[in-house]
Amino acid sequence: MAVKWKNPKERMQVAVIGGGMAGAELVRLASSRRLDITLIEPKHQVECQALYPDYMGGLVRVEDMTAPLRPFCEKVGAKLVNEKALAIEDHEVVCERTRVPFDVAVVATGAVQNYFGIRGVEHTFSLNTLEETMRAREYAESTYPDRIMVIGSGLTGIETACVLADSMETSIYVIEAMDRLLPVFPAGVSCRVEKALGRKGINVITNARVAEVTRDSIIFHDGSSLDCDMAIWTAGIKRCALSQDLDLPMNRGWIQTDQYLRAAENIFVLGDCAWVEIGGRIATKTGIEAERQASHTARNLHHLARGKPLKPYSILAGADHPLALISTGNGCALGVYGDSCLPVPSRLLHVVKRWIDKSITKRYL
Ligand SMILES: Cc1cc2nc3c(=O)[nH]c(=O)nc-3n(C[C@H](O)[C@H](O)[C@H](O)COP(=O)(O)OP(=O)(O)OC[C@H]3O[C@@H](n4cnc5c(N)ncnc54)[C@H](O)[C@@H]3O)c2cc1C
Repeated sequence: MAVKWKNPKERMQVAVIGGGMAGAELVRLASSRRLDITLIEPKHQVECQALYPDYMGGLVRVEDMTAPLRPFCEKVGAKLVNEKALAIEDHEVVCERTRVPFDVAVVATGAVQNYFGIRGVEHTFSLNTLEETMRAREYAESTYPDRIMVIGSGLTGIETACVLADSMETSIYVIEAMDRLLPVFPAGVSCRVEKALGRKGINVITNARVAEVTRDSIIFHDGSSLDCDMAIWTAGIKRCALSQDLDLPMNRGWIQTDQYLRAAENIFVLGDCAWVEIGGRIATKTGIEAERQASHTARNLHHLARGKPLKPYSILAGADHPLALISTGNGCALGVYGDSCLPVPSRLLHVVKRWIDKSITKRYL
């Protein structure tokens, strides 16, 4: 269904909530004289999560993963409200101290780590935020643990285990609750990644559901336990506080969008906080999708401002056909495209991945 902006002659007020990969990219691409954009983001910088595992291994610096938001917003002519959004009321975003009026709002608040209510998670480290990643690296460097357990074998868990195996003389374990590594990827990919981990001496434990984490051990549901000196939790994400409180349609805990990436007539939802399901395909929660959804919505905002109909979104990296470059350490990466995966990790793919990841924050400088 096409929605028309009511007065194409006026500047449309757009409030973007969240200045991560989707929100910052939308602001960069949508900025123009037709749109009056306000970015609402409590952090002072845009951050590239994809480089956090490399940061754990001392391979990149904080400057490679971040770009300050204020100069970026000034450059593109957007306003920055350096606060957390608390609610959306009618045509206003309610922030900690400010109220931001809007004609169109864009929710791009990402996701937070999900601990599934497991006891003792305060003893674990997470790589979901820059602060947590810095805390994890500081701990690893200052205590030099003998045994590190990486809980969860998604992309973050695999890349973190590989980078640690390269940079530390320590026993690394990857613990997965399902029966294979990278359970959301095709089985052939899991098999190749498991071989790559085996070559690096990383211990893989599957079918192991963590029940509790203590200061020096991991306890499993079957009552068994493993000693550990450091536990890194990478097993799952969930919606953040704001998206829980919005009166918008939900699907499996995420905000459900339509084919135009809207959850209401004047509210678009992008990136990790969105449940994007179009034509039977489900978008993955990846940087690739966050960026594509942002560029598509930037174009649609311009259509709206000109009184033109919206264009439907088309998913590229779907759960049925993943698209990923997975760092396997030693300067190599595996490429995954649907069911296809290179038989061995390649240096060239790693160069490409590092270039893509580093170029993300450079766009905002
Ligand atoms: C360790 C790690 C490695 C990854 N590696 C890859 C990879 O190699 N390739 C890939 O494609 N993807 C990767 N991803 C996934 C990718 O980083 C995310 O899919 C992407 O960042 C999602 O973008 P987003 O804008 O939805 O969320 P984010 O980038 O997380 O941004 C959300 C923003 O919203 C802000 N926010 C939250 N609540 C509020 C509020 N109430 N008010 C205002 N602002 C708010 C946050 O401060 C944050 O800045 C990785 C993720 C992690 C954690």
